[in-house]
Amino acid sequence: MAKVNIEKKILTKNEMKAAEVRERLKDVAVLNFVSSPGSGKTTLLENVLAQLKEKYKIAVVEGDQQTTHDADRIKAAGVEAFQVNTGNACHLEAVDVERALGTLGYDLDLLVIENVGNLVCPAEYDLGEDAKVMLISVTEGDDKPIKYPVMTRACEAMIVNKTDLLPYVDFDVEGCIKYARGINPDLEIMTVSCRAKEGLESVTAYIEKKILEKKGK
Ligand code: MG
Ligand code: ZN
Repeated sequence: MAKVNIEKKILTKNEMKAAEVRERLKDVAVLNFVSSPGSGKTTLLENVLAQLKEKYKIAVVEGDQQTTHDADRIKAAGVEAFQVNTGNACHLEAVDVERALGTLGYDLDLLVIENVGNLVCPAEYDLGEDAKVMLISVTEGDDKPIKYPVMTRACEAMIVNKTDLLPYVDFDVEGCIKYARGINPDLEIMTVSCRAKEGLESVTAYIEKKILEKKGK
Protein backbone atom coordinates (compact mmCIF):
# COMPACT_ATOMS: atom_id res chain seq x y z
CA MET A 1 0.00 0.00 0.00
CA ALA A 2 1.33 3.37 -0.96
CA LYS A 3 2.26 5.53 1.90
CA VAL A 4 0.84 8.98 1.68
CA ASN A 5 2.30 11.79 3.68
CA ILE A 6 -0.14 14.54 4.22
CA GLU A 7 1.58 17.65 5.42
CA LYS A 8 -0.89 20.25 6.39
CA LYS A 9 0.36 23.75 7.00
CA ILE A 10 -1.56 24.93 9.97
CA LEU A 11 -1.39 28.67 10.43
CA THR A 12 -1.15 29.92 13.94
CA LYS A 13 -3.45 32.67 15.15
CA ASN A 14 -0.54 35.13 14.91
CA GLU A 15 0.31 34.10 11.35
CA MET A 16 -3.30 34.60 10.28
CA LYS A 17 -3.39 38.06 11.88
CA ALA A 18 -0.01 38.93 10.30
CA ALA A 19 -1.38 37.96 6.87
CA GLU A 20 -4.35 40.30 7.42
CA VAL A 21 -2.05 43.17 8.44
CA ARG A 22 0.18 42.51 5.40
CA GLU A 23 -2.81 42.54 3.07
CA ARG A 24 -4.10 45.86 4.44
CA LEU A 25 -0.61 47.37 4.16
CA LYS A 26 0.17 46.06 0.70
CA ASP A 27 1.28 49.48 -0.60
CA VAL A 28 3.04 50.45 2.63
CA ALA A 29 6.65 49.57 3.49
CA VAL A 30 6.68 47.84 6.87
CA LEU A 31 9.96 47.36 8.77
CA ASN A 32 10.32 45.48 12.04
CA PHE A 33 13.37 46.71 14.02
CA VAL A 34 14.80 44.23 16.50
CA SER A 35 17.77 44.28 18.88
CA SER A 36 18.90 43.67 22.43
CA PRO A 37 17.79 46.33 24.92
CA GLY A 38 19.87 49.48 24.61
CA SER A 39 21.27 49.02 21.11
CA GLY A 40 19.87 52.39 20.09
CA LYS A 41 16.77 51.58 18.04
CA THR A 42 14.80 54.62 19.16
CA THR A 43 17.74 57.00 18.72
CA LEU A 44 18.35 55.64 15.23
CA LEU A 45 14.68 56.11 14.32
CA GLU A 46 14.65 59.67 15.70
CA ASN A 47 17.61 60.51 13.46
CA VAL A 48 16.60 58.69 10.30
CA LEU A 49 12.86 59.37 10.28
CA ALA A 50 13.55 63.09 10.72
CA GLN A 51 15.18 62.90 7.26
CA LEU A 52 12.19 61.17 5.68
CA LYS A 53 9.17 62.69 7.41
CA GLU A 54 8.71 65.65 5.07
CA LYS A 55 8.64 63.40 2.04
CA TYR A 56 6.65 60.40 3.30
CA LYS A 57 3.72 59.59 5.59
CA ILE A 58 5.34 57.66 8.43
CA ALA A 59 4.11 56.06 11.64
CA VAL A 60 5.91 54.08 14.34
CA VAL A 61 4.62 51.31 16.59
CA GLU A 62 6.69 51.23 19.77
CA GLY A 63 6.89 48.05 21.78
CA ASP A 64 8.06 48.05 25.38
CA GLN A 65 6.91 46.19 28.46
CA GLN A 66 6.19 49.46 30.25
CA THR A 67 6.29 53.27 29.82
CA THR A 68 5.53 55.51 26.84
CA HIS A 69 9.06 56.95 26.76
CA ASP A 70 9.96 55.76 23.26
CA ALA A 71 6.67 56.80 21.63
CA ASP A 72 7.04 60.19 23.34
CA ARG A 73 10.52 60.56 21.84
CA ILE A 74 9.34 59.65 18.33
CA LYS A 75 6.43 62.12 18.59
CA ALA A 76 8.85 64.80 19.78
CA ALA A 77 10.84 64.12 16.60
CA GLY A 78 7.67 64.97 14.63
CA VAL A 79 6.55 61.47 13.64
CA GLU A 80 3.27 59.78 14.60
CA ALA A 81 3.74 56.97 17.12
CA PHE A 82 1.68 54.52 19.10
CA GLN A 83 3.03 52.83 22.21
CA VAL A 84 2.15 49.22 22.91
CA ASN A 85 2.94 48.03 26.44
CA THR A 86 3.35 44.29 26.44
CA GLY A 87 3.39 43.86 30.23
CA ASN A 88 4.96 40.48 30.91
CA ALA A 89 5.41 39.62 27.23
CA CYS A 90 8.85 39.90 25.62
CA HIS A 91 7.77 40.47 22.00
CA LEU A 92 5.10 42.15 19.88
CA GLU A 93 2.41 40.13 18.09
CA ALA A 94 0.53 40.99 14.91
CA VAL A 95 -2.59 41.80 16.93
CA ASP A 96 -0.62 44.60 18.66
CA VAL A 97 0.26 46.09 15.26
CA GLU A 98 -3.39 45.88 14.18
CA ARG A 99 -4.47 47.65 17.35
CA ALA A 100 -1.87 50.39 16.79
CA LEU A 101 -3.04 50.84 13.18
CA GLY A 102 -6.57 51.39 14.53
CA THR A 103 -5.21 54.68 15.90
CA LEU A 104 -2.43 55.46 13.40
CA GLY A 105 -4.51 54.65 10.32
CA TYR A 106 -3.51 52.77 7.19
CA ASP A 107 -2.89 55.78 4.97
CA LEU A 108 0.90 55.55 5.19
CA ASP A 109 4.02 55.20 3.08
CA LEU A 110 6.07 53.63 5.87
CA LEU A 111 5.24 51.81 9.07
CA VAL A 112 8.16 51.19 11.40
CA ILE A 113 7.74 48.71 14.22
CA GLU A 114 10.22 48.97 17.07
CA ASN A 115 10.00 45.59 18.73
CA VAL A 116 10.63 44.87 22.39
CA GLY A 117 14.42 44.66 23.01
CA ASN A 118 15.00 40.93 22.63
CA LEU A 119 16.78 38.88 19.95
CA VAL A 120 15.05 35.60 20.78
CA CYS A 121 11.29 35.28 20.34
CA PRO A 122 10.65 38.33 18.09
CA ALA A 123 12.34 36.17 15.42
CA GLU A 124 9.37 33.79 15.57
CA TYR A 125 6.57 36.34 15.36
CA ASP A 126 5.53 37.63 11.96
CA LEU A 127 4.07 41.12 12.38
CA GLY A 128 3.10 41.56 8.74
CA GLU A 129 6.41 43.25 7.97
CA ASP A 130 8.31 43.30 4.68
CA ALA A 131 11.62 42.89 6.48
CA LYS A 132 13.19 42.57 9.88
CA VAL A 133 16.17 44.82 10.58
CA MET A 134 18.59 43.95 13.37
CA LEU A 135 20.63 46.46 15.33
CA ILE A 136 23.82 45.58 17.19
CA SER A 137 25.78 48.17 19.11
CA VAL A 138 29.54 47.97 19.54
CA THR A 139 29.13 47.84 23.33
CA GLU A 140 27.75 44.32 22.85
CA GLY A 141 29.63 41.20 21.85
CA ASP A 142 30.67 41.05 18.19
CA ASP A 143 29.49 37.40 18.17
CA LYS A 144 25.82 38.33 18.69
CA PRO A 145 24.95 37.26 15.09
CA ILE A 146 26.05 33.67 15.74
CA LYS A 147 24.64 33.57 19.27
CA TYR A 148 21.19 34.41 17.89
CA PRO A 149 21.24 32.66 14.49
CA VAL A 150 17.46 32.37 14.19
CA MET A 151 17.17 36.15 14.29
CA THR A 152 20.20 36.68 12.03
CA ARG A 153 18.62 34.39 9.45
CA ALA A 154 15.21 36.12 9.79
CA CYS A 155 16.63 39.59 9.09
CA GLU A 156 17.15 41.29 5.75
CA ALA A 157 19.50 43.93 7.14
CA MET A 158 21.86 44.44 10.05
CA ILE A 159 22.95 47.80 11.39
CA VAL A 160 26.06 48.10 13.58
CA ASN A 161 25.48 51.15 15.79
CA LYS A 162 27.53 53.39 18.12
CA THR A 163 30.68 53.15 15.99
CA ASP A 164 31.92 56.35 17.67
CA LEU A 165 32.69 54.12 20.69
CA LEU A 166 34.96 51.74 18.75
CA PRO A 167 38.20 53.25 20.20
CA TYR A 168 37.00 52.32 23.71
CA VAL A 169 35.68 48.78 23.20
CA ASP A 170 36.97 45.47 21.83
CA PHE A 171 34.25 45.07 19.20
CA ASP A 172 35.60 43.69 15.91
CA VAL A 173 33.36 45.08 13.16
CA GLU A 174 34.83 42.90 10.41
CA GLY A 175 34.55 39.83 12.65
CA CYS A 176 30.92 40.64 13.45
CA ILE A 177 30.12 41.03 9.75
CA LYS A 178 31.88 37.74 8.99
CA TYR A 179 29.83 35.94 11.64
CA ALA A 180 26.63 37.48 10.31
CA ARG A 181 27.34 36.69 6.65
CA GLY A 182 28.26 33.12 7.62
CA ILE A 183 24.67 32.66 8.75
CA ASN A 184 22.92 34.95 6.29
CA PRO A 185 25.05 35.68 3.18
CA ASP A 186 22.46 38.07 1.74
CA LEU A 187 22.31 40.31 4.78
CA GLU A 188 22.47 44.01 3.94
CA ILE A 189 24.93 45.57 6.40
CA MET A 190 25.27 49.19 7.49
CA THR A 191 27.47 50.81 10.14
CA VAL A 192 26.34 54.00 11.87
CA SER A 193 26.96 56.34 14.71
CA CYS A 194 23.87 58.28 15.73
CA ARG A 195 25.94 60.37 18.13
CA ALA A 196 28.54 61.36 15.51
CA LYS A 197 25.83 61.41 12.78
CA GLU A 198 27.85 59.05 10.61
CA GLY A 199 26.47 56.50 8.19
CA LEU A 200 22.86 57.56 8.73
CA GLU A 201 22.41 58.26 5.01
CA SER A 202 22.90 54.53 4.28
CA VAL A 203 19.97 53.68 6.57
CA THR A 204 17.84 56.47 5.09
CA ALA A 205 18.61 55.17 1.59
CA TYR A 206 17.75 51.59 2.59
CA ILE A 207 14.38 52.67 4.05
CA GLU A 208 13.58 54.86 1.06
CA LYS A 209 14.37 51.95 -1.26
CA LYS A 210 11.87 49.83 0.70
CA ILE A 211 9.20 52.55 0.40
CA LEU A 212 9.68 52.88 -3.37
CA GLU A 213 9.69 49.10 -3.86
CA LYS A 214 6.32 48.88 -2.15
CA LYS A 215 4.93 51.67 -4.32
CA GLY A 216 6.12 49.75 -7.35
CA LYS A 217 8.59 52.46 -8.41
MG1 MG B 1 13.57 51.83 22.27
ZN1 ZN C 1 8.61 36.81 23.70
